[in-house]
Amino acid sequence: MPELPEVETVRRGLEPVMTGARILQADVRRPDLRWAFPERMAERLTGADVLRLRRRSKYILADLSTGESLLVHLGMSGRMLVSGAMLGQFVQNHPAPAKHDHVVLDMDGGARVTFNDARRFGMMDLLPTATAEQHPLLAGIGPEPFGNDFNEEWLIQRFKGRKTPVKSALLDQKIVAGLGNIYVAEVLFRAGLRPDRLAGDLTEAQTAALVPLIRQVLDEAILAGGSSLRDYRQSDGELGYFQHAFRVYGREGQPCPTPGCTGHVERIVQSGRSSFYCPQCQR
Ligand SMILES: [Zn+2]
Repeated sequence: MPELPEVETVRRGLEPVMTGARILQADVRRPDLRWAFPERMAERLTGADVLRLRRRSKYILADLSTGESLLVHLGMSGRMLVSGAMLGQFVQNHPAPAKHDHVVLDMDGGARVTFNDARRFGMMDLLPTATAEQHPLLAGIGPEPFGNDFNEEWLIQRFKGRKTPVKSALLDQKIVAGLGNIYVAEVLFRAGLRPDRLAGDLTEAQTAALVPLIRQVLDEAILAGGSSLRDYRQSDGELGYFQHAFRVYGREGQPCPTPGCTGHVERIVQSGRSSFYCPQCQR
């Protein structure tokens, strides 16, 4: 499931082919994904210029010259593919339409953007740009991890008296936008905190220390995604998925990567989802 760094990588990969370009033709090949597409979606997209591509949490928004924004969520298995674009010295030819290619956008620069989603948990909607933040899916989302509204004071206030595990608190999208299971595991490892510690039991200093660690972990992943973008011309044009070395996530039973630590990564299940941590480094 894509998390914030993967979504940001997709956004950055789409930017050179979409921003400033016109959608010559939109092909919408089924009536719905997770939910029904908006009415006349293909018509409303066709002929529109893409003014700006931005990200809010795990959503991508394409602001259009029509005053509407295309809201995209990749869901569990959604993939964006770019073809026909000049990237480095390579030109990606348009592949034949594949199974699960649900929405195809042909841009005036010659690029084709294809949204493929086998499991169809993704979504697309069109909404007025001016009130985009009030969309039901966006309205309740908390501050962006890289934004000024997310800071030490904010997190200390949110954690105060909270009787939920620190992991659950960091997954709470009202506290910070876009963090998921994988990156929370990495943040807590670097913070030296067990994922089942109660958020309200942390000292203010421990809570404050999470803010720069969250940014650091996401930043490194976005950087890794950026280097994957330079390689995607050699693959099938798929954006956003990349090899990233996790220190604890998915490493149950393996030696802890902290130099000198003799611990092994353990897995526990919290709220039905796996948590990975080193019982020696994380207290
Ligand atoms: Zn350790």
